[in-house]
Amino acid sequence: MIVISLPTLAEITAGQLIVAANNTSLSIDDLVIDDLVTDSRAIDKNSAKICAFLALKGPNFDGHRFAQQVIEQGCQLLIVDHHLSEVIDTAQLVVSDTRIALGEIAAYVKKELAPKTVAITGSSGKTTVKEMVAAILSRLGKVLATQGNFNNDIGVPLTLLRLDSSHDFAVIEMGANHLGEIAYTTALTQPDVAVINNIAAAHLEGFGDLCGVARAKGEIFSGLGEHGVALYNQDSQYSDKWQWRLEGKAVRTFSCINSSPEGKAHCYSENVNLDENGYATFTLKTTQGSCEIHLTVPGKHNVCNAVAAACIALEFGASLDDICLGLAKMQPVKGRLNLYQLHDKKTACHIKLIDDSYNANLESAKAAAQLLSSYPGKKILILGDMAELGTDARSYHQELGEFAKSLQLNTLLSLGVLSQSASDAFAKDNDQSEQSQHFSQRAELMAHLLTMLNQQLSAGQQDIAILVKGSRSAHMEHVVTEITHWF
Ligand code: ATP
Ligand code: MG
Repeated sequence: MIVISLPTLAEITAGQLIVAANNTSLSIDDLVIDDLVTDSRAIDKNSAKICAFLALKGPNFDGHRFAQQVIEQGCQLLIVDHHLSEVIDTAQLVVSDTRIALGEIAAYVKKELAPKTVAITGSSGKTTVKEMVAAILSRLGKVLATQGNFNNDIGVPLTLLRLDSSHDFAVIEMGANHLGEIAYTTALTQPDVAVINNIAAAHLEGFGDLCGVARAKGEIFSGLGEHGVALYNQDSQYSDKWQWRLEGKAVRTFSCINSSPEGKAHCYSENVNLDENGYATFTLKTTQGSCEIHLTVPGKHNVCNAVAAACIALEFGASLDDICLGLAKMQPVKGRLNLYQLHDKKTACHIKLIDDSYNANLESAKAAAQLLSSYPGKKILILGDMAELGTDARSYHQELGEFAKSLQLNTLLSLGVLSQSASDAFAKDNDQSEQSQHFSQRAELMAHLLTMLNQQLSAGQQDIAILVKGSRSAHMEHVVTEITHWF
């Protein structure tokens, strides 16, 4: 963060400063902060920084309750939505809404430091593209990227507050589960480049349908300044929903389809090949030439993410070499198609376990199933519920089951409630289906899986691939952990 004086904070937030009664030695203009936290657990007592605590209110908590505790932890300013009369020894900044104040302070920090900034949204692949862009841009300078999934109306400002004068670039992920959320976060971020990675059925409960998703994602372009660049996936059938926002703006497109009917995109892929583990090599075609790319994350859909990342990086002056070398260094993101190679010592069977348990929507589940289908041997999909898919949730699960059947996967084991529609659709009139079944309890699924694997191993099966997928709320990572303990 940067050093901000209390009067400046009061000005930014239109708040009222109430200085501690016992503070006679300093004039108000001398008081500054250079750190801001919203979580008492994030306070470092030994830090030399002067910390402000901003009290947020959520459905299950009220940060104001922690005022005394954070003072004891060393915080020197409380940002609150009402005066805490019981606090007499610490300055308070009283604002009308602390969540809005957080955004105002974050926007100020971003504007003062002015790193080159990209904002990335889309239904799938935001975190992956963010990591890819960060890997490339870190070859050109110091990058601040969203940590984990801090991509909402609280996470984005907290990310911006982590900026300091050493950062050359900011790579900001933006998610949304309701209309207006991205308009808000992009207004704070004021990106130089704004990106829509793709549109798919995700968070439908907040948006109604795919057009609603596209409209919401389109809000990202409203944050672009006069010289900003809008960048989107030309393959998306919903791009008409945001065209009106692009008037007068520089526009770049990328594509994962070689020859799209609308003509060539600025960046696209050709000659895509997957190796035996599903890692892609492809030719990246850009307006500045071509190069060969080898990805460190499996799945054909990651080619699309890499093309998007390349297109973004070119806007910030990266060379084709930077793109190629940066992508080669990208670390897989936890829970997104992490490939474990397991080995059954007794039978010498190779088991590929793919952990895609971080999250799921229809598109990402289809992409994962597609990857699974590319592996040799027995292919087992273990699916938890895909959440937030609105009133058509059952039919989305059914569609996935039918898709898995069309890929000729051997088994679909489902866990939860909605996912039963997937295993039912998969098993219906399916001669290939082996021991597919639905479970409401994880323990039962694990027992069934273990019996099945033992049968296959003792029958001399040489290759088995198991892919585990589900929404965050399905906690399918426990399934992954248990399987790794078996081998
Ligand atoms: P979230 O909305 O949870 O923040 P995200 O958009 O950040 O998700 P990632 O975390 O990168 O996306 O990936 C989430 C899931 O989507 C993973 O299972 C991943 O394999 C899959 N995925 C990533 N990119 C794509 C893509 N371009 N198309 C389809 N699925 C994808
Ligand atoms: Mg994410």
